[in-house]
Amino acid sequence: MHDADCIFCKIVKGEIPSTKVYESDSVYAFEDANPMMPVHVLVVPKNHYRNIADSIPDDEMAALMQAAGAVAKLKGIDESGFRLVTNTNDDACQTVHHVHVHVLGGAQMNEGNPSLKA
Ligand code: 5GP
Ligand code: ZN
Repeated sequence: MHDADCIFCKIVKGEIPSTKVYESDSVYAFEDANPMMPVHVLVVPKNHYRNIADSIPDDEMAALMQAAGAVAKLKGIDESGFRLVTNTNDDACQTVHHVHVHVLGGAQMNEGNPSLKA
């Protein structure tokens, strides 16, 4: 369930410090270290899965998405608007191979351009 070399597993276990935004039994959310928007939070399952196309149990997948919504509410961007991004593998520039949802908001984003790293 954990990968000893994975930085997000280490963050979940508290071995690497992070700024917690939200936590539930199966999910942890924390501030991105290199924010690209006024609000930029990462939501991860506590268990290690490589990406969104990995075999993630239904209850953990649901918890991940529910947490993303909860983070948006906690950050006060649920009404103004926000974007969820889940980079997956090389074409999408996934750099940390522990599935994570970027919660992005707090400023106007480009219409129809979901790119996080343009
Ligand atoms: P990806 O490119 O895989 O979609 O996103 C990885 C994200 O993790 C990047 O936005 C990067 O800033 C963030 N990140 C990488 N290492 C750390 C870390 O040690 N702590 C935190 N808080 N964020 C990190
Ligand atoms: Zn991991």
